[in-house]
Amino acid sequence: MSTRTPLRLAEDADVQSAIGNLRSSILTDSFGRVHNNLRVSVTDRCNLRCTYCMPEDVTFRDRSELLTFEEIASFVRVAARLGVDKVRLTGGEPLMRKDLHKLVRLLVAVDGIKDVGLTTNGILLADHAERLYDAGLRRLNVSLDTLDPQRFRALTRRDGIEKVVAGLAAAKRAGFIPIKVNAVAIRGFAEHDVIPLARYCRDNGFELRFIEYMPIGADLWEREKVFFAHEILELIESAVGALAPANHDPSAPALDYTYSDGGGTVGVIASVSRPFCRSCNRLRLTADGKLRNCLFALDETDVKDFLRGPNTNEGAIADALRRSVWAKREGHEINSATFTKPNRTMHSIGG
Ligand code: SAM
Repeated sequence: MSTRTPLRLAEDADVQSAIGNLRSSILTDSFGRVHNNLRVSVTDRCNLRCTYCMPEDVTFRDRSELLTFEEIASFVRVAARLGVDKVRLTGGEPLMRKDLHKLVRLLVAVDGIKDVGLTTNGILLADHAERLYDAGLRRLNVSLDTLDPQRFRALTRRDGIEKVVAGLAAAKRAGFIPIKVNAVAIRGFAEHDVIPLARYCRDNGFELRFIEYMPIGADLWEREKVFFAHEILELIESAVGALAPANHDPSAPALDYTYSDGGGTVGVIASVSRPFCRSCNRLRLTADGKLRNCLFALDETDVKDFLRGPNTNEGAIADALRRSVWAKREGHEINSATFTKPNRTMHSIGG
């Protein structure tokens, strides 16, 4: 008769505790996607009114509704303990939030956070670039859809292209490497802008990335208006230079290409024609303290109450994070008949 102790894995206290630790130490959804990438919107206010992003007449949230820098940092501390190591600040226009560099300073000091980035329209960048760099910001994305002042006005309903260009120059002087320029590609506009933008970025050492136009703004989205990634790449190859696929990080949304002559890179974020949901590792915190597991999520979880007040309820925040990520849908469904547009437009979610 065998004297060996029978295996009783499920009841073994060490194993149970190991499983418990595993559950609590990473953010995984029900499809096994691990989430380490957090986008934090710091305001819904914006100094542009991009047609594809937000309505012209908009009521912004009262400032008292927005999370304070301390509250955002407390949230990020909990998220970092659950494996989040990348944070990107966005909005609205994040540079409209006073003293943003102070938030950057708080976040780069959080244990476990390896990388803090910023997405901005660049209008106020010239005044802030150096302070942001000194605070520890390294990754910078500047949104710029056109170099033509009239098309800039048509798309953003405002003037200011020269401020964006000055902001990019200031960011370069401050030492940001790389600087990415993001352009939304809308049919009827992009055909005119792809080549000048590609040349401008190549000449200045900026990494250019085109984002396919998505149904997340206040305007009427039509599939026919999406200028597809392959069309963008064809245009660039025809007039600027041959491209070769670059090493691709499977969790990164952009497909990157380098010019075959070595002069820079171009990326395409093909959210419509080649959705990357299967490798999505992102979650979002809105400026008013709502946790969203997808840009196109129809549900959100309020975490503001757990952050506001004398004591942060870290357990409740961790629980909300785990539940939200676990409940993530398989994909955004833009290409399916069941697609439902979220109630919030991009500016109030955080792009
Ligand atoms: N104000 C900042 C900026 O302009 O970069 C940050 C917020 S903005 C909402 C973030 C990004 O979302 C921008 O690059 C913008 O072009 C992009 N975006 C907004 N609406 C979009 C849409 N309908 N489709 C694709 N990208 C969109």
